Amino acid sequence: MPYTERTAARYTRPMAMKTHEGGCHCGAVRYRVELDLDAPSITCNCSICGKSGTYLQFVPPEKFTLEKGEEHLVDYQFNKKVIHHLFCKTCGIRPFARGVGPTGPMIAVNVRTLDDVDPFTIATQQYPGRDK
Ligand SMILES: [Zn+2]
Repeated sequence: MPYTERTAARYTRPMAMKTHEGGCHCGAVRYRVELDLDAPSITCNCSICGKSGTYLQFVPPEKFTLEKGEEHLVDYQFNKKVIHHLFCKTCGIRPFARGVGPTGPMIAVNVRTLDDVDPFTIATQQYPGRDK
């Protein structure tokens, strides 16, 4: 199935939205987010995802709360500079990024940084970002 059809199917399936807590490794950055962990997270082969190994889910800003650590985040941008690739200045972990999607502002949450998640159990879907 092409990526767009899979994406559409994802939005019509029953949702298991739950609130999760997460953060960086050292604890300076903490957040809360509402998302469906049964929905596949994106593994992408673009220049930055390929190197950083993030598993991403995209949520609107109202489903995401940064509880602490804004001042600990370093902003990294490249190429068209539309996405803020944030990382903790102490431990280097990338809990989330800020960007703009087709429907407006969005947060790309790195679900590997959720507290209650075993990375081995995360459902994933490959996205060929390198070819875009
Ligand atoms: Zn940290």
